[in-house]
Amino acid sequence: MNASLETSMTPQTPDAPMPRADLLGYPVDCVSLDDVLGQIEQRAPQDKNGPAQIVTLNPEMLMQGERNPQLARILKSADWVIPDGAGVVWALQFLYGIKIARLPGIELSEALLQKAASQDWPVAIIGAESSVLQAAIASLTARYPGLKTVYHHHGFFPAGDDSLAVAKACAEAKPKLVFVALGVPRQETWIEEYRSLFDPSTILIGIGGSLDVWSGIKKRAPRFFLTLNLEWLYRITSEPWRLKRIYNTLPVFVVKVCLKRLGF
Ligand code: UDP
Repeated sequence: MNASLETSMTPQTPDAPMPRADLLGYPVDCVSLDDVLGQIEQRAPQDKNGPAQIVTLNPEMLMQGERNPQLARILKSADWVIPDGAGVVWALQFLYGIKIARLPGIELSEALLQKAASQDWPVAIIGAESSVLQAAIASLTARYPGLKTVYHHHGFFPAGDDSLAVAKACAEAKPKLVFVALGVPRQETWIEEYRSLFDPSTILIGIGGSLDVWSGIKKRAPRFFLTLNLEWLYRITSEPWRLKRIYNTLPVFVVKVCLKRLGF
């Protein structure tokens, strides 16, 4: 196995640990969609690690971690760190020759929702404006017949007591999967802060703008962009305000990766 891959993975699958690469000090699980689905299915209901957190990593998030110690800690301790961003996939190949496919968080989430519907796993969905959330749930329920949403809440609650109340009510509904769409880094910190309230078998994932897509108010990039790993470019053209965010993070990420390649 490539020297840059660590095999000391969190023990969801003690007999077959996931290959985990190190990207600028942050872990990335070199997994396919089927790998993650299999690992989630095999995860013991009383896993000793307790409720699990899935992070869908992109370069923006990784660079935010440089300025936000709480986010950095979460990225480093999450149970799964999925290669969501094209930049992550590029950097792993450029630095270490590791060839993995991008695994967009929205596609992982759709596969999880499908599994939840077929296996009768209760789900909870938190985030977005109320109307968007309702439309997303209606569309998901039509798409995945049998999907059981045991808890939902819009994403515009204040921090503090209200946030805790949402977490407690969500945990009491006993979901197996919790989808949290509050944007980065709020969704990651919310999950970290409250995940201990949930049953050990629960899996919590931050899903960014997925509810906007499922509700129909936003569209994913056309297949052409997805195939070329250019979904980020499509998002910039359709939501130009993202340019500032990317401008502040992506060039620094590329420079850091290049310096690493040069041995600095
Ligand atoms: N959102 C929310 N509460 C907040 C901030 C954002 O529910 O306080 C929702 C927002 O409505 C959207 C999602 O979180 O549905 C964030 O989407 P975005 O595409 O900006 O996610 P990111 O790019 O941060 O992954």
